[in-house]
Amino acid sequence: MIERHWKRKRLAILMAALCAAIFVFGTRLRAAADDFPIYFPDSRIVVKSEALNRTTYLPIVDIIQNLGLPYTDALALETITIRSGASRLVATRNRALISINDQIVLLQNPILRESNRWLVPIEFLTQGLTRLTGTPFRYRAGAPRIFAGDVRAPELVMNAQDLGPVTRLTIRTGVPVNLDVQHDDQNNRAIVRIDQAPVDPLRERIDQKDRLVNSIVFDDTDGEPKIVLETTDEAGEIRVTPSDGNQLFFVDVLRRAAQITEAAPPANVPAPRIDAPSPERRVRVIVIDPGHGGMDSGTTGPAAAEKDLTLTMARRLRTVLQNQLGATVLLTRDSDIALDNEARSAVANNNQANVFVSLHVGYSANKTDSGASLFIMPDNFGGGAGTGEPPGGMFLPWYLGYRTNRQASSRIAALFQEELTKAVPGWRFPVRKAPLGVLASATMPAIVLEMGNVNNSTNSQTLMDNAFQSRIASALVSAIQRFSEPQTPAAN
Ligand SMILES: [Zn+2]
Repeated sequence: MIERHWKRKRLAILMAALCAAIFVFGTRLRAAADDFPIYFPDSRIVVKSEALNRTTYLPIVDIIQNLGLPYTDALALETITIRSGASRLVATRNRALISINDQIVLLQNPILRESNRWLVPIEFLTQGLTRLTGTPFRYRAGAPRIFAGDVRAPELVMNAQDLGPVTRLTIRTGVPVNLDVQHDDQNNRAIVRIDQAPVDPLRERIDQKDRLVNSIVFDDTDGEPKIVLETTDEAGEIRVTPSDGNQLFFVDVLRRAAQITEAAPPANVPAPRIDAPSPERRVRVIVIDPGHGGMDSGTTGPAAAEKDLTLTMARRLRTVLQNQLGATVLLTRDSDIALDNEARSAVANNNQANVFVSLHVGYSANKTDSGASLFIMPDNFGGGAGTGEPPGGMFLPWYLGYRTNRQASSRIAALFQEELTKAVPGWRFPVRKAPLGVLASATMPAIVLEMGNVNNSTNSQTLMDNAFQSRIASALVSAIQRFSEPQTPAAN
């Protein structure tokens, strides 16, 4: 009996404890306190926010003390009175009504007093303090920060793309900033610090989870804006490419030793003998850029859209070039996504590509036109004297990477022309010069191959034909092979 009695008593205690727990947690749904920055034009404070009843609450006394506003905490009356000049705000514990100069403002959530602290919902600042002080408090729904007064907070836009061996985080700030990246690959974490505070991120996090990145989250809980990337074990080096006058950045997470593993030649290709005086093979990494993608379909004809044709062709080229040259072949996109020109050439630049080929399909008003064009950059574009071209009109002065390889681009275009002319009898492959954005910032021999005419049904069918695509691919292999051969007419 005693035993049983004891059990019942123990059960009663357990029930009481459980009820207490339900009471405590059920009434408040309390979460841990988080750092929450409030930015003023000349200063910032970080307060501890609390999530209560799924609402973010802030400790108001910390904020009004920082603003230098006098206040009276009349605990007996369960009110707090805040003054600003001749204005007066009165708030009452557990009430959503506040009075400002004897006018009533109804908030969505009540004022709380917890553990001797006055806690207010965000709208207390945006509706109450804004009216009391005349200083606007701005808040983006769901964002853990507030901007006060005329503090300047440029919008920050983040996007991420899985480009296969590279995961690319694109950051746009709208104002020039500098980024500093620290990669702690022991702990699979990279921190991208932004040297401008505050910024106003349109999104707090990006849903990006792939082979290289587990999460991308904006964080300024300490008042210092930064983007935290949780990386995977496969992530290696992280490279930052600034663009657009430091208002746009490509943060590329590279696969660990991607170039080595990808470059491994197929087993049936004999490895070069190290002791032999073999010529240096100059083409180890090739980047193929399937033009257009996503919302940008490019030229559309009766049979197919340009964006699909270029992707199909690029994949075929990748297979053939990898198998026959043992080269690493990377695509700027391997799915139907949109990429801007800088993103495309940055894939080539960041992977130290030796050749960059951007694929397009032509369109001619004359539906019977056939053929293809090879494009390279003009000799002296982008601010050079005597070209008559507007400097920076088509791209910014930063994009002068092409100049270092202008002659090599010209040579590879000539080789492509020769091989393509042999491979596709009857077609003409003129080499043209045009200031194309996708070529301008490429720091290696780079060309655009614009094949056929998609609006011509014969051409369109031809372009989708497997045998035709194989001939084009073989021609490119031959051209790159010839390009790789040493050009030393005097030596040997
Ligand atoms: Zn195109």
